[in-house]
Amino acid sequence: MYKVKKRLEISAAHRLELDYESKCTNLHGHNWIVDVYLKSETLNSSGMIMDFTHIKKKIIDKFDHKIINDVVDFNPTAENLAKHICDELAPYCYRVDVQESTDNIASYEKDTRNDEI
Ligand SMILES: [Zn+2]
Repeated sequence: MYKVKKRLEISAAHRLELDYESKCTNLHGHNWIVDVYLKSETLNSSGMIMDFTHIKKKIIDKFDHKIINDVVDFNPTAENLAKHICDELAPYCYRVDVQESTDNIASYEKDTRNDEI
């Protein structure tokens, strides 16, 4: 099994829809650190799972310097973003860590127990 990890930094803004009082419902920004993990049994004709540049372009182009609420149709919590980014990099991505700040990190991990890869 081949595995790669790619770290991305995204500067963007979001506001959360919450059913309790929170300053996070106001528009605010983060410098998200996003770690994406890919794996594959086989490599493409270039000898890669996916070109690091293609991973970066796909995620950075969508989110960097954007208001995330304008580009997704879900509440952009770190957890929801982690799953969304993992889905964007299907079928190779199996885990995404989204760090909003030094102390706040959410992870999404795809359950691959039944995958035939
Ligand atoms: Zn936030």
